[in-house]
This record gives sequence, C-alpha cells and structure tokens, in this order.
Amino acid sequence: MQVKSQPHLQSTSLFNQANKVLAGGVNSPVRAFNAVGGAPIFFQRGTGPYLFDVDDNQYVDYVGSWGPMILGHANPAVIQAVTTVAQNSLSFGAPCALETRLAEVIQENMPSMEKMRFVSSGTEATMSAIRLARAATGRDKIIKFAGCYHGHADAFLVQAGSGAATGGQPNSPGIPAVVAAQTEIAEYNDVASVERVFASNSGNIAAIIVEPIAGNMNMILPQTGFLGTLRRLADQYGALLIFDEVMTGFRVAAGGAQALYQIKPDLTTLGKIIGGGLPVGAFGGRQELMALLAPEGAVYQAGTLSGNPVAMAAGLSTLQQLNANSYQQLSERSQQLTQGLEQAAQAAGIGLQTCHQGGMFGFSFCDHTDAPSNFSSAQACNTTRFTAFFHAMLQQGHYFAPSAFEAGFISLSHTANDIESTLTAARSAFQKLTK
Ligand code: PMP
Repeated sequence: MQVKSQPHLQSTSLFNQANKVLAGGVNSPVRAFNAVGGAPIFFQRGTGPYLFDVDDNQYVDYVGSWGPMILGHANPAVIQAVTTVAQNSLSFGAPCALETRLAEVIQENMPSMEKMRFVSSGTEATMSAIRLARAATGRDKIIKFAGCYHGHADAFLVQAGSGAATGGQPNSPGIPAVVAAQTEIAEYNDVASVERVFASNSGNIAAIIVEPIAGNMNMILPQTGFLGTLRRLADQYGALLIFDEVMTGFRVAAGGAQALYQIKPDLTTLGKIIGGGLPVGAFGGRQELMALLAPEGAVYQAGTLSGNPVAMAAGLSTLQQLNANSYQQLSERSQQLTQGLEQAAQAAGIGLQTCHQGGMFGFSFCDHTDAPSNFSSAQACNTTRFTAFFHAMLQQGHYFAPSAFEAGFISLSHTANDIESTLTAARSAFQKLTK
C-alpha cells in the first residue's frame, strides 16, 4: 500500500485551485493540514476502511470523516437506502415518517432523550441545547471545559479544543467580549475547578456542557467519579447537565458514554454517526425541557433542511446495522491498534500513551507514564513527533487525523489484517523518528 514517488501532485494542484475560491482552500480548518504542514489530500472515493486519493494512492482510513463512517465508506445498505429515498425528492421541508423512525431508534438506545429535535450539524445541536438550558433556568452562564470542543458557536470558542487548539487561537476574534464572558472555564477531570466556578457564580450557571469522553484534545477518558460529580454539582446548584455526545454517541457504545458510565444528563447532543455521513445533528432530553421549544413553547429553534429525508435514511440505515457485537468488534480492533502502537513505540524507545473505547482511540507522544488527563497535559505532549509520525504513516498509505489534538476512529469494516498492516508501517515510522 506504498504511495508513489511523487505522491500528491494532483492533490497539490487541486489545493492551489481551491485556494483561489475557498477561504484557506478548505471548508473546515483542520482539513488544511496547517498543523502538520504540506497540502491536504483530495480524495475521490472510499470503500470500507480504504480511501483513494486523486493521485490513486490507497490509504487505510482512521479518520472516518471525523466519526460518522462507523460502517466504513460506501456501505451498500446505506447507499441503497439513500438512493431509494432520493428518488422521491431530496427535501420536503415538511414532516416525513423517517424522522420519527430515526428518533425512535435513538431513543431506544438513549432513553434520557425522551424527546428530541433534528438539526443539520453538531454545532446547531449544542448551540440550541444551551439556548434551551438558559431559557429553562433563566440564567445566562455556562460552564465548559478547557480543550472540549462543542462546535463553532460563539459561546464555545473559549479555550476550545480540536482545530481551535491546533491553530493556537483558542479564542476566536469576532466573538463579543460580553458573549465570551458568559462562558466559564473549568479543567477536565478536576472537580475542584468546577466547584470553584459554581461557588463564584452562584445562581448564574444555566448548564455544564461536557464531552463525557473527550475527543478534541486527542482522546481523554473521564476519571472515576468525574461525571457523577458533575451530575451532583449540577443538581446542587440548579443547573442542567448537557452531555455533548456528538462524537461519542453510537461510537463508544450504542447508548453513548451515558450508558457506559450510567449517568443521566438533562440534555444530550448528537451528530456524526446518526447521520451516517450526511449532515445531521440532534439535541434532546427531558420531556418538560423539550416542551419549551417552539411550537409547543416559546424557545425558538428551526431549520429549513432539519430532518431531511435523505439524511434521515442514511442515519437510520447506519444505526440499524449496529448491535452489541459491533461494539465488541470495534473494541477489539481499537485495542489491537493501540496496544500494537504502544509496543512498537516502546521497542523504539519512544514514549507513547494511548487509550480507546469502542470504535474511538487516541495516542499522544509523551514521555511521562500517565496519559494526559486534561487540556494542559495534552498540550504538553510532543507535537513535533506527532507530525513526523503522521507524515511517515501517510507516506505508507495510512491516514490519521492531521492534528495531534484529534481522536481516531475505527470502523466495522477494518479487519485485523488492516490494523496489522498499519502496525507494520508504524514500526518503520517509529524507527525513522529515532534517527
Ligand atoms: N461537539 C463535538 C464533541 C464535536 O466533536 C463536534 C465536531 N467535531 C461538534 C460538537 C461540532 O459538530 P459539527 O462539526 O457537526 O458542527
């Protein structure tokens, strides 16, 4: 699966062309490869775990469109469902039965979502959830965690992870100071920092929003008791607890992180997998909270393409193919990959910390023995080493996220052999790193 000697000629040419008409040549910043250098790869097709670029190089894909492609690319049943529905119109802007069916499947797996609403992106889901939380509590402030990413709405671009962290601009210009001041920051896995924020903003906090497993400062698992304490503190201070499961929903387990850790949030946000690769987000939770939304209540929220039939069909077909065995298989593959990477790094004398849950994994180049537990320890890891590793893997046909601050994703189409081929490439990459 070695790529060619002039591997990315067409990609580079397409990027130059794109730069003339698209801002930064891309439609989402991390894609631009700014964190790792070089021109981004332009893809032309994917099948199962493989991607093929415009120069006809083949890659084993560990990005999966940043999470949605849990079945692999071009899953035949999803393509069939989408094609059938598309023939009956791409959009009605009026109710269709598929919306209810997808909501039912989500609710079966995530009973805390007593009622929900579909939107077209994760950002829309999170920004709508905090509007609802503010309306429900009559309070303005929210607590978010440094390094967590909840989309690009103003309220969340304060010490945000993902692309915002990579660009070294945790706070984006263009956000009014009065808006940013409504977002209080606490440290992930540090309950004392949350207590401090509550204590100094008593009666003003509408909600805590958290990635219950963080995936935007590389991957960080919640420490024992962290999420339970957030639940208790939210209740104690009359705030809502919002689990942003845009990434973890149907990814770490069918019921998301809330099922794994047995914590019931007041509101949940979803995206990625529930759209099977098409633009879908959702937010939902306790019935009485969702009743505040228009048209039942006064909190306004709407969308021309919300609940779009083609997107609903892709999501429904994706979720219908997932079951308990799927998560067992995803876990085994993630473990094979992360354990193999650790062993290969160790053999080369390179410090590497990994973690995984279901079909999500993370790895950080750091010499200390503990895995990163918050944003500052994630930032302390060696991004120069990551960059060298990323390019060495790309060169050998293995596509990881082009930033050290992203989680990785495995699909049900990745075989043990695919992972083994990646580990073989990683052994050679680690050797190069030490030279
Ligand atoms: N929340 C989380 C946890 C995410 O990872 C993301 C995107 N990676 C979002 C929200 C925003 O979703 P979108 O990019 O679809 O707006």
